[in-house]
Amino acid sequence: MTTRIVIIGNGMAGARLAGELHAREGDRKVTVLGAEPHRAYNRIMLSTLLAGRIGEPDVELTEAAGHGIDLRTGVPVTAVDRPAREVRTADGERIPYDHLVLATGARAVVPPLPGLDPADLPRRVVPFRTLDDCRRIIAAADGARSALVLGGGLLGLEAARGLATRGLTTTVVHHTEHLMERQLDPAAGAVLAGTLAGLGVTVQLAVPATGVVADDTGVRLDLADGRSLRAGLLVLSCGVRPDTVLARAAGLTVRRGVVVDDRLRTDDRNISAIGDCAEHDDALTGLVAPAWAQARVLADVLTGTDPLARYRPRPVVTRLKAAGIDLAAMGDAVGGEPGEELTFTDPARGTYARLRIRDERLIGAILLGDNPAVGTVIQLFDRGHPVPADRRALLLGRALGATAAAPAASPALMPDAATVCQCNAVTKGALVRCWRSGARTVDAVVAATRAGTGCGGCRDAVGGIVDWLSEAESVEVTR
Ligand SMILES: Cc1cc2nc3c(=O)[nH]c(=O)nc-3n(C[C@H](O)[C@H](O)[C@H](O)COP(=O)(O)OP(=O)(O)OC[C@H]3O[C@@H](n4cnc5c(N)ncnc54)[C@H](O)[C@@H]3O)c2cc1C
Repeated sequence: MTTRIVIIGNGMAGARLAGELHAREGDRKVTVLGAEPHRAYNRIMLSTLLAGRIGEPDVELTEAAGHGIDLRTGVPVTAVDRPAREVRTADGERIPYDHLVLATGARAVVPPLPGLDPADLPRRVVPFRTLDDCRRIIAAADGARSALVLGGGLLGLEAARGLATRGLTTTVVHHTEHLMERQLDPAAGAVLAGTLAGLGVTVQLAVPATGVVADDTGVRLDLADGRSLRAGLLVLSCGVRPDTVLARAAGLTVRRGVVVDDRLRTDDRNISAIGDCAEHDDALTGLVAPAWAQARVLADVLTGTDPLARYRPRPVVTRLKAAGIDLAAMGDAVGGEPGEELTFTDPARGTYARLRIRDERLIGAILLGDNPAVGTVIQLFDRGHPVPADRRALLLGRALGATAAAPAASPALMPDAATVCQCNAVTKGALVRCWRSGARTVDAVVAATRAGTGCGGCRDAVGGIVDWLSEAESVEVTR
């Protein structure tokens, strides 16, 4: 009998799941219902789109369109009828399922400030979550000379950098004492603020906003210290909240997100949840790598390809995608757990490094500014390998010797198990196997392994490995 799988949400998790299901054998009908009117797109590249470094066609994801998947865009689901095992759409259709997957993602938080009605935001006040939000920000920026960004987290800073790239004088207003306080310590926050200042972004710290007044010509943001800032637009970047509306109304267990087990199952065995809307082991993810890992595991479980597949969270590495700022933060970098601490600060060069080590392993790190050891540090953290005895090489970014403990930058010296693409969890070994099985260009290797299709930060590394393999082959042939 054909299994009917319905996926609610055509975002990064839902679209990837549809692709994973399509790639596996079996008789099933997959229906994807997406509220947004667009084909699936790469949400994490919206910051790069906002900065004008790519165009809209570059953010499209190809996997959900066609390929035998019944994809319906612009179709919001309004209810899940668990006893009848069907979902209802806004246009009144009822769609039956054998298995339902919630991939409803998260929504941008609109702070409860006087002057901001989440259901009716002024034209020049825009959150930053969707492609339509991005279009609205770009439209409001057109002709404006200045912009305000409320929220100095990762997304707020990417938005601010993008607006500054478009030539707007940009100010970030942040309520705590330093930027990105979830990933950075105060010293790193201070160096980052200095780097941003050099790129045309001013930062106002430790000052909560108290209200917004906006009309068609501009925005005024009132601050708790009595000042008011004026600009042509205000971008809201105040965090996200998992979209659990359907799950709650259907009576599923919801804490911060929809609660799932290691097989991504909710407390209804016919319903799963993945991506930003899901809460696994008391944790929300909010990142694409875990969402795609969950899609892979769920596809294995649902199709019986690997009924024993289980989702196991991996260590998270956060990178800022903003031209002129190199920042990577990972693990417990801010320091709650005891451990060896090493720091190096050079504010004049916009450089800061902090390593936290316990039992000879990295438990957290911050690398800000140009540090050639960043790839090595990420690999050491990701693989849990021992750090080299000479820590200065990591801290100062000096060239490393080829030691067993420290994978060097050359592809030849990288272990096969080293993860090259963090978003898709693709190792060097997988890239080499792909090349050996016939994919001879970067595009072919990317298409076959998906490496580089998330944030795109590993594209150069993938290119380096393909070049190295090609050169090695031509040497063999010449011999
Ligand atoms: C600007 C920006 C930059 C980012 N950068 C990074 C980054 O560098 N690295 C990283 O790892 N992560 C990044 N993220 C986070 C990443 O985009 C999310 O973790 C990822 O999109 C989660 O995928 P998802 O499918 O769970 O949610 P989403 O991609 O939000 O998709 C959910 C979809 O479900 C739809 N939906 C909701 N309710 C319904 C309904 N009732 N009926 C039908 N459809 C519904 C929504 O409309 C949406 O299209 C970024 C996010 C943004 C906004």
